[in-house]
Amino acid sequence: MKDTITLIGSGLSGPLLAIELKKRGFPVEIHERRPDMRRVQISAGRSINLALSTRGIHALQQAGIWDSMKKIIIPMKGRMMHAVSGELTFQRYGKDDTEVINSISRAELNMALMNAAEENGVRIHFNQRCTGYDVRSSTLELRNEETSEEHKLESDIVIGTDGSASAIRQEFLKLPRFNFSQQYLDYGYKELTIPADPNGEHQIETHALHIWPRGNYMLIALPNIDGTFACILFLPFEGPDSFAELNTEQRVYTFFETNFPDALRLMPQLTGNFFLNPTGAMVTIKCAPWHHGSALLLGDAAHAIVPFFGQGLNCAFEDCTVFLDLLDRIGPDWPELFTEFESARKVNTDSIADLAVENFVEMRDRVADPRFLFRKKVELALEARFPGHFVPKYAMVTFHRVPYSVAEARGKVQDRMLAELCDNINSVEQLNWTKAEAMVNRELQPLGNI
Ligand SMILES: Cc1cc2nc3c(=O)[nH]c(=O)nc-3n(C[C@H](O)[C@H](O)[C@H](O)COP(=O)(O)OP(=O)(O)OC[C@H]3O[C@@H](n4cnc5c(N)ncnc54)[C@H](O)[C@@H]3O)c2cc1C
Repeated sequence: MKDTITLIGSGLSGPLLAIELKKRGFPVEIHERRPDMRRVQISAGRSINLALSTRGIHALQQAGIWDSMKKIIIPMKGRMMHAVSGELTFQRYGKDDTEVINSISRAELNMALMNAAEENGVRIHFNQRCTGYDVRSSTLELRNEETSEEHKLESDIVIGTDGSASAIRQEFLKLPRFNFSQQYLDYGYKELTIPADPNGEHQIETHALHIWPRGNYMLIALPNIDGTFACILFLPFEGPDSFAELNTEQRVYTFFETNFPDALRLMPQLTGNFFLNPTGAMVTIKCAPWHHGSALLLGDAAHAIVPFFGQGLNCAFEDCTVFLDLLDRIGPDWPELFTEFESARKVNTDSIADLAVENFVEMRDRVADPRFLFRKKVELALEARFPGHFVPKYAMVTFHRVPYSVAEARGKVQDRMLAELCDNINSVEQLNWTKAEAMVNRELQPLGNI
């Protein structure tokens, strides 16, 4: 008999991991605190869209479910920046149309993953909140959220895929020498909607991630397959132009009229949505170790990150890829597997956590700066001239599967090169290619050799 594996949390990584464990012959069950969202409507303001990219897609391909996902994604080729004047600037994400990110509704993705898990024989228990876990006996405490009934469950192996507020991690906090840090941003986010036009079509460019960058805050919009856009407003919690200040319908309306006039025209239900939907907080969580006894943390439970690189989900899915590769190599020697998993991943999840915080400034502020846009053009020109050597940081993170820590380190080297090469020039034609080539040869080994 193979060890029984219990996953806590049927969000995004739980069902994906469960499918793969089931395929390898393990008895796997998932306990999820929420009701089954395929039968019960999810609450307003909890259906944001996510950008799915190469790392996430790879994991879905490995599980054999990527093809079935294609009907619920919309490829986004670049950023469409909206100035206050309404002027639009498009900036491609990748070197060509093969490098796109994919807008997907979190709810649709979650439901598709749960369907696939059940089709593979995984049992998901809904309304089952994990309220405790005894590390010594590997016994879970579960409470039925509808009936308040409590019961205990022993499992050979427990994996906490229960997200940023993980109950399993909460138990680790009670153990000696567990390291933990959480850093909230002073910013919150609110989900809003741009409805479809009367023909059910998108009212603005479909294949783009729209951004209204305004320095200290921003609005973004990702396309949905039903013609709507899922928008997110990022704003400080307190101070001028903050959620605290926008406390009446009139203030919200005036704020949008001043800062996002073109978006306002597309949002007839703005003020209703604004006050109906909750304001979310964003946190970076780092902790170690990720495992104790028979239990492991994976995904946001081990490393929650802020959403500005669009990588939280992709990173959680990459955790699954790495975990399963190790399982196939080492076998179910759990202590060794957990240790190897953490040492392979932690350095990389720390890197993407830091890159995600950095990218917030880029998205809300720098994307509107002409010098920044010029540097992006130079990056693409360098990539075209030195393919496989100079690969922009955004591309390494989003379109490649090089370890995040490598992307971060090379990104720093490339930033220095760009600063030097772009100094005193205003067009790609003025680039000193001889100097660029010498720098690339000296400082960047081919990405494929890493
Ligand atoms: C505003 C925003 C935008 C984002 N945009 C992107 C993006 O564009 N691209 C991207 O890659 N990532 C993005 N992310 C991050 C992404 O959503 C997460 O990284 C991802 O959901 C992590 O998956 P997970 O399985 O670890 O956790 P989750 O998906 O959070 O799943 C955890 C599950 O555990 C359940 N649970 C929690 N506690 C318990 C308990 N005690 N007992 C039982 N069940 C429990 C929860 O109900 C949930 O179903 C974004 C996040 C936010 C907040």
